Amino acid sequence: MNNNRFDESTTRHQATPHQAADQGLPLSEPIIDLHQIVKTYEAPSQPFTALRGVSLRVQAGEFVAVVGKSGSGKTTLLNLLAGIDRPTNGAVSVAGTDLHALSESQLAEWRGRTIGLVFQFFQLLPTLTVAENVMLPMEFATIVPAAERQPKALALLDRVGIRDQADKLPVTLSGGQQQRAAIARALANDPPLLLADEPTGNLDSATSTSILELFAELNAEGRTVVVVTHERDISRYISRQITLLDGRVEADQLETAEVIP
Ligand code: ADP
Ligand code: MG
Repeated sequence: MNNNRFDESTTRHQATPHQAADQGLPLSEPIIDLHQIVKTYEAPSQPFTALRGVSLRVQAGEFVAVVGKSGSGKTTLLNLLAGIDRPTNGAVSVAGTDLHALSESQLAEWRGRTIGLVFQFFQLLPTLTVAENVMLPMEFATIVPAAERQPKALALLDRVGIRDQADKLPVTLSGGQQQRAAIARALANDPPLLLADEPTGNLDSATSTSILELFAELNAEGRTVVVVTHERDISRYISRQITLLDGRVEADQLETAEVIP
């Protein structure tokens, strides 16, 4: 059955998604759909509203940077996208799932398959080897069959360039290597969406650039990436920059066109 839009022209052949984009027609469902999100934290002294009506759509394949001053709501936004926290008001839909409809255990299961999370301080488990850290989400989600987990972990470590560190404990790695391990772990269950909260905030600038390049490669391979960052360098890699200010979207800019000053 034809889409109504296409019915307007009987001669036009069925458009591919790419052609649809060229013609300004709607693409497939967005991978992220936030509608009028409000998040109020119930602090002991007085409630604090960290997000004040954020609406946002991100299409699959985008590489989005979220920027804004400290306290503007960036981490709050990422936590809602990951289903780590719930909004006070508004609807969060990610990868076709309305998160409101899920129980805590359903959310955890959904997150394991759908979201790859990367943090500023890596959050690797110190008593596990690097390879064991990468296998951990596979063990929780049980998508990857048991016999394939170790080879898959090694392949992912190879992908992020630290296959030779697989049997070491995280503490023996450099910061950049630990972040690569954390990115390999985030990829364990092949999630369609990678969320990273200031992933280069604890790294020197050369290492930061190499980590941003790795995210850009993973995006080019088809993953949607949302990175909270302060790196100015990021504009070289991203397709879109969203600026938060006091819990609102202050600016939402596409970065596709080269701007000539
Ligand atoms: P950002 O990541 O942009 O620095 P956050 O999303 O962490 O901002 O925080 C936004 C605002 O919400 C800040 O003012 C912060 O103090 C407040 N906030 C964050 N988490 C909590 C919490 N659990 N309880 C109360 N206030 C919080
Ligand atoms: Mg933050």
